[in-house]
Amino acid sequence: MHVLIIGGSDAGISAALRIRELDAAAEVSVLLKDHYPYYSICGLPFWISGETANLHHLAHRSLAELEGAGLNIQANTTAETVDARNKTVAIQNGTQIAYDRLILATGARARRPRLAGIDQPGVFTLRWMGDGLQLQHYLNVRQPRHAVIVGGGYIGIEMADALHRRGLELALVEHRDSLLHTIHPSLTARLQEALQQQGHRLHFQKRLVEIHGEGTALAVELSDGTLIHTEMVLLAVGAVPSTELAGSAGISVGVGGAMVVDRQLRTGIDRIWAAGDGVETYHRLLQRNTYQPLGTNAHKQGRIAGENALGGSRQYAGTLGSQVVKVFDQVAARTGLRSQEAVDEGWEPMSEGFCCQSHKSYVPGAETLQFRVTGDRRSGRLLGAQITGPAGAEVAKRLDTFANALYHQQTVEDINDLDLCYTPPISSPWDPVQMAAQHWCRQRDGAS
Ligand SMILES: Cc1cc2nc3c(=O)[nH]c(=O)nc-3n(C[C@H](O)[C@H](O)[C@H](O)COP(=O)(O)OP(=O)(O)OC[C@H]3O[C@@H](n4cnc5c(N)ncnc54)[C@H](O)[C@@H]3O)c2cc1C
Repeated sequence: MHVLIIGGSDAGISAALRIRELDAAAEVSVLLKDHYPYYSICGLPFWISGETANLHHLAHRSLAELEGAGLNIQANTTAETVDARNKTVAIQNGTQIAYDRLILATGARARRPRLAGIDQPGVFTLRWMGDGLQLQHYLNVRQPRHAVIVGGGYIGIEMADALHRRGLELALVEHRDSLLHTIHPSLTARLQEALQQQGHRLHFQKRLVEIHGEGTALAVELSDGTLIHTEMVLLAVGAVPSTELAGSAGISVGVGGAMVVDRQLRTGIDRIWAAGDGVETYHRLLQRNTYQPLGTNAHKQGRIAGENALGGSRQYAGTLGSQVVKVFDQVAARTGLRSQEAVDEGWEPMSEGFCCQSHKSYVPGAETLQFRVTGDRRSGRLLGAQITGPAGAEVAKRLDTFANALYHQQTVEDINDLDLCYTPPISSPWDPVQMAAQHWCRQRDGAS
């Protein structure tokens, strides 16, 4: 049995390792375009900032470890077409590779808006390891003092932190009216303040129109006519699924242009599975496919695709859209549905904000946590939660408590029954998560 996997990142290697766990005899080959198998692209902002000193520490596992696990890793190898009838894949030099089972884990690429001046030196995207190397080289050699970041999503924000650490003055351009559009603006205000307090400028409700060359420098023109002079531009405006192989394989594309898969990660084409940022993402609450290109989803899907390629029938449980991001000393996290999404699905959502201290205030160091809890007014079912607070105040752990409750379809009130741990320097007898849930219940009961 030869399982061929196209893609050597989170989804592809997760699939390969799962196959190896289940079947020591299967031949497992992984093709990847570049020579960075199983490197954490999520870590690129931290390598660029200098917090992670060595690029190779970004590898989840080294090449030697992967080969030691019995994987045949073929780097610098681009798959060009799939012949599903003859079960072969053609690579860049025309060689045909035969497979018994095929897993497509080709991921995504950075979105590049088609605008004038976008292709000149000094304009970057960040997706592949190669993008990170180019950006790092430019920072080291050109020593720019100013950068414009286009996009206020989590990659734009993480890169704002990274470039700030490198000493650059930043202008961040976001076409919406706040950062991180999946989090309510009342919570992201502290992230905005954190950036502004460091002297960085935020341009909301403006779009990038054109990038002008000014000798060796650049000028970024925005939709309101603002011209920002800079030495570099980072475009952080989203990911586009890499589905170049879908056409020849006969695989349909759907939401967000991603490959259509069912919950077993089957593509509908005999003996071909697909996983990761190249495929649609089943949403556990919406009970339909969305597109959520995240490492958390890619690892899980890869593992399931690997198992099912060996004859399994495991189902992907689905995403909740759980995410966390840190900028300077502030952390923002979210899971589940926003109010409008819940309305669209027929729920009667009620969202309540709540603030409290992260632990008993008689122990120094307590910090303010800000919550927003969304539940269905009629059934009390938890639908989503968002939290911001300082790093060290366990924002992510607390958000994960909500994510866990969401996964198990609990009500907001059920959160009060959870046996959460407590010691005064860390929490309270009622953890802040429970206080926020109680506040939601009081408001709902008072309002009804
Ligand atoms: C800067 C940054 C920060 C991030 N931070 C987070 C985070 O904090 N949390 C989180 O959950 N997610 C994060 N993500 C997203 C996460 O990295 C991706 O969701 C994840 O890497 C997707 O894995 P994947 O295997 O599906 O695809 P990719 O990582 O895109 O890998 C695709 C693989 O396919 C190969 N490939 C593509 N086409 C071909 C071909 N034709 N032939 C051969 N090989 C091919 C590529 O070489 C690569 O090995 C971040 C992403 C970026 C860019």
